[in-house]
This record gives sequence, structure tokens and C-alpha cells, in this order.
Amino acid sequence: MSEKKYVYLDYAATTPMDPRVIEEIYNHFKETYGNSSSLHSIGQKAGKLLEDSRNTIAKLLNADRQDIIFTSSGTESDNIAITGVALQNMERGNHIITSTIEHHAIENPCKQWDKRGLEVTFLPVNKYGLINLDDLENAINDKTILISIMFANNEIGTIEPIKEIGAIAKEHNIIFHTDAVQAFGKVPIDVEEMNIDLLSASAHKIYGPKGIGLLYMKNKGIKKGIGRYIRPIMWGGGHEKDMRPSTVAVPLIAGFAKAAELAKEEMSLEAQRQTKLRDKIINWILENIDDASLNGHPTQRLPNNINVSFKYIEGESIVLDLDMEGIGVSTGSACSSKSLEPSHVLLAIGLKPEEAHGSMRATVGRFTTEDDIDFFLQKLLKIIERLRKISPLKRKV
Ligand code: PLP
Repeated sequence: MSEKKYVYLDYAATTPMDPRVIEEIYNHFKETYGNSSSLHSIGQKAGKLLEDSRNTIAKLLNADRQDIIFTSSGTESDNIAITGVALQNMERGNHIITSTIEHHAIENPCKQWDKRGLEVTFLPVNKYGLINLDDLENAINDKTILISIMFANNEIGTIEPIKEIGAIAKEHNIIFHTDAVQAFGKVPIDVEEMNIDLLSASAHKIYGPKGIGLLYMKNKGIKKGIGRYIRPIMWGGGHEKDMRPSTVAVPLIAGFAKAAELAKEEMSLEAQRQTKLRDKIINWILENIDDASLNGHPTQRLPNNINVSFKYIEGESIVLDLDMEGIGVSTGSACSSKSLEPSHVLLAIGLKPEEAHGSMRATVGRFTTEDDIDFFLQKLLKIIERLRKISPLKRKV
């Protein structure tokens, strides 16, 4: 019996590994098993693969290979950025600026530190999810040590004005971190041109393995006029420039490098192809389903992100019904946790809690086809109609 087709439209949550990445990792698990710190030839072979991988990945950021350290995830990189900068700069200042729509991997470390020695300003965003550059300038004071603003939002796909934020940070000699977990490999990033000091990314969002991330640290974490600006948050052996101890997962990193190489080669064509699919979905929904509205910026958004609110129904019901039809999307209201709290991102862009609850995120990717989209839209229409028929909220109006 053939397996039922499943249309996966949740590439922002994670991506399936590209078969070319799986092959690369499989070969290295067999052949490059050494500890990259060992002096013997087996260790040296792993060490060379590690440095070659660093080089390949650095090219995707226009970065120096020496400025990349590998971590276990985007979450770990974000935590090192926030806590590592806070710990290292206590004498200089205690103020961090971030936004109200950051991923929990930034929001929660900031909240941990807020009032425990640090002051955190959470900048508001407009209805599209964009921060205001004047608000940013006005929030800066002589105690500000770090600005951390995400490159692109994981729920609504909005891309922040990173180059302009980098210029402001540079002018005030403040460290600038960006969580680029959703943007890395999908849109061009140039850490030099954008004045980025610290950047987080993760392999599993770009068809690489889960369990590997990176933190880019400009000039190995040293800045003119500031000196060393970041310190480790874990101590052990001296791996990864003393910033992230533990035996390095070289085969997974080689997989991350393969994924980054493919992302670089295919970025331009894939971005065009996915933007077409994205806009087809958005336009079709807005034209064919009443009381539906787009969340996030209409054009300044990731090529693969669709986030829509449907009045009178719950996002969870849409997700579960679509799953029964063999389609995987996610709800905008309960992102990573299974909590029933409305999404802080959707509330921050001005949605009412009931509107936030009625939202759905679909994210396309490398393996999504036109046929998948047609199948999805046809099922979605039926599901929305059926849910609205039984919705007590709809009957009230
Ligand atoms: N930051 C953003 C914007 C994300 O979307 C995610 C994952 O969804 C993370 C950080 C965390 O990355 P990881 O799953 O690698 O820990």
C-alpha cells in the first residue's frame, strides 16, 4: 500500500534535511570520527573538516572564518549573545534594547536579566511588525551596551531594517546582535555592510541537521573602543575559541556547511520561486475567503512566510483539520510551546486576542510544489467554511 501524501508547510518550524546533506553527514560519521582537538592524523582530519566547514559557512555572511563559533542551536547562540554581553560589560553599562516581537530565545534571557541588574527596553513595533528607528535612537542612553533586534520574524516573516539599525549601533559604539535564525540562507546577509557584531543562525532551518547552530562574533568578540565585548557562559576545554566548550560535533557541522553551500547556490532562484508560491497563497486567500487578513508586511517579508487571521475560528482547529487532510501548517497563536496564550507577536502588531487566536502560519520551502499549494488551498477553503458553520462566534454576528 502506498503511503498517503503529506504536504508539509511548516518550514519555519524546521526543515526536512536535504538528501545531499544527509549523504554528507552519513559519510563523515563513518569516516571523520576523530576529535578535532586530537593531535593524531584522525583528529587532524576532523580539524581540517571543521575549518573548511567554517570557511564555507562564513561565505554566506561575508564574514571572516575566524569569527564563527559553533553552538548546539539558535537558542544557545541567542543566550550566549545576551548573557555573554551582559556579563562582560557590567562596568560599562546595564541597558539592553530589544523588541517586543523577538523569539523566546531572546525574550526570555532578556526577561531573566531584567531587574536582576539589567534594564531592558522592549521596543514596540508598528502594524507590520517593524520597529521605528527614531524609537531606537530615543531609547539609547549612556548605559546601553547591546541592541538585539531580529533579522526576520519567525511568525509573521517581517524583515527588520537591519542595515539602518547597524548604522545607529555603530554611530553610538553599541554592540549589535541580530537573531538571523529565520533569515540565514533565505535572504542575503552581509555582516560588514550591515554593521552586525553578533549574529545567531541554526542549521535545521536550512535543510541541515538539528542540534547545530552558530554565533558570528565580529573580530572574535573584540571591538575598537570597547575591547573584549563578550564572554563565554559555559566553561570547560578551550574549544571554539574558548567561547563554547565541548567536543565539537564535526560531522553535523559538515552537514551545516553543505546546507549553507546549497542555500548560497540556490538562494536567488529559490527566493523567486518561493515568493511566487507565497503570493499565490496570500492573494488566493484574500480573494476567496471572507474576513481573512494578512499579518506582517505585504512585501518586506521572508519569501516563504504566510500568516493570516481568519475571523470567528480558532487557529488550532484549522491546524488539526488540515493535518487530518495530510497538510502540516502551524498556528500563529501558540508557536513553539503548546500554550494557549495568544502569540506575543500578533498582540504586538495590534491584533485583539481573539484575532490572534484565529491565525495560521504556512511556510513553504525547497520541496513545496505548485500542486501542493493547489491541494492546500482547496482543502483550506472547505475547512474554513465548515468551521465557520459550527462557530458560536460566527452565529453571534
Ligand atoms: N530564533 C528564531 C527567530 C527562531 O525562529 C528559532 C526557532 O524557531 C530560534 C531562535 C531557536 O532556534 P533553535 O531551534 O535552533 O534553537
